[in-house]
Amino acid sequence: MSKVYLVGAGPGDPGLLTIKALECIRKADVIVYDRLVHPTILRHAPIDAEMIYVGKASSRHTLRQEEINRLLVEKSKQGKTVVRLKGGDPFVFGRGGEEAEALAADGIEFEVIPGVTSAIAVPAYAGIPVTHRGFCSAMGIITGHEDPVKTVSSIKWDKISTGLDTLVFLMGVENLPNIVSELIANGRDSSTPIALVRWGTLAKQETLTGTLADIVDKVKKRGFESPAVTVVGDVVRLRERLRWFDNRPLSGLRVLVTRSREQASALSEALREYGAEPVEFPVLKIAPPDSFAKLDDALERIEEYDWLLFTSANGVTATINRLYEIGRDVRWLKGPKIMTIGSKTADALRAIGIRVDFTPNEFVAEALVREFPESPQGKRILLVRAKEARELIPEKLTERGAEVDVVAAYQTLVEESESAPIKQMLAAGEIDIITFTSSSTVTNFVKLIGKLDGRLGKQPIIACIGPITAKTAEENGLKPDVISETYTIEALVESIVGLVNRR
Ligand code: SAH
Repeated sequence: MSKVYLVGAGPGDPGLLTIKALECIRKADVIVYDRLVHPTILRHAPIDAEMIYVGKASSRHTLRQEEINRLLVEKSKQGKTVVRLKGGDPFVFGRGGEEAEALAADGIEFEVIPGVTSAIAVPAYAGIPVTHRGFCSAMGIITGHEDPVKTVSSIKWDKISTGLDTLVFLMGVENLPNIVSELIANGRDSSTPIALVRWGTLAKQETLTGTLADIVDKVKKRGFESPAVTVVGDVVRLRERLRWFDNRPLSGLRVLVTRSREQASALSEALREYGAEPVEFPVLKIAPPDSFAKLDDALERIEEYDWLLFTSANGVTATINRLYEIGRDVRWLKGPKIMTIGSKTADALRAIGIRVDFTPNEFVAEALVREFPESPQGKRILLVRAKEARELIPEKLTERGAEVDVVAAYQTLVEESESAPIKQMLAAGEIDIITFTSSSTVTNFVKLIGKLDGRLGKQPIIACIGPITAKTAEENGLKPDVISETYTIEALVESIVGLVNRR
């Protein structure tokens, strides 16, 4: 059954989307969205959904609104599931009320899905609670951009200026001088604290504080622009103590994540924890090897091996998938003892119920050979890995008398990601840090982007996992500023934090 959903997308941070909103977006045939809706949110839409941008130019407001209303009615009458996605909450200065009226008038069924409004969430991300038991028991949300056709203000300045403790203005930047003078003229003390918070809940959030007396000057000096939420009242003082979002170690920094699509999210999540804004640009993808013949053959004779060695979680997944394809499953791996390099590799085995018999303390080939729990002499070892891996492990094990069969379970290829937006960001100096988690992320990055040179707005920090990745970066003209010793995402992020702190 066709229906229109009037959905609040929240103030910016995609994590503030409600579960109900997400469910609607996932089943939409048509999405009609505004200017302030984050692209990450739009990515939840079905691939074949029709995406209609109606971001409004404020000058042609009225006409455009009628067009939007008509569009919603029309699409719904075609039997489509329509999601009208609006910034913040649809009924807080979002003209959602008018759209609902238009739908109701045409007898079209609709649902309203409230969103997290910027009026409350943006101050919260700046460390300003809009109410506080101690000194604020009433707050108001006020438009800072009254309909220009009105001759008399419908804002009761005489009542609100002193009648409410906290005043939150939306769309109020251009009109700030007028707002401030009305408040003072109507009895609000000119020493009352005021804050403007721009691009709230996003990494680029910026806050400017002052008093009613000096804020207009400060805004002019800083060239502070919309979109911003303006908060007036004593609660603004709490920011000094309650700041939490924009003072984290990586706040305001954009970090490029070059790992494969499947692996990017763990790094992005860790970066976000420290306040950074990850930008995902997968430069490699995992693909089947050119031929499975060697892997199949080795698996066929699995019981002849003393040890089965995995060096990556990808290798584990690829092997299990292959077993499945050839009509077997994990039970087939009985026989050899199992060893790994890297805790994520061990986790991948654990997830499918396999216990790892040995894993070295350090996540490098050298440590594996050094700490090998028995004499390698005469041992038969099956090493399953990527096609393009280093030769060190088999060489060292062979030197010590083991018989090593190396088979590829997968290969990594260049992901043909759209590179133009990333090139643009780099040229504009909008990327602060680039992360590389393996040598192939470096070489593929260079293939897609080219060498980084004088074109750059500013030189980003280059962060590499482990010395081998760092060496590859160096060879490609990307001098590493950060090299994490340990081969984990956590260690990489901590090293970045360390460097940013030192600077
Ligand atoms: N329905 C929306 C408000 C729409 S009016 C809501 O509930 O949030 C648009 C105004 O909202 C902007 O001019 C600005 O004042 C404010 N706004 C929305 N998102 C914002 C953000 N991320 N940072 C700062 N202000 C924001």
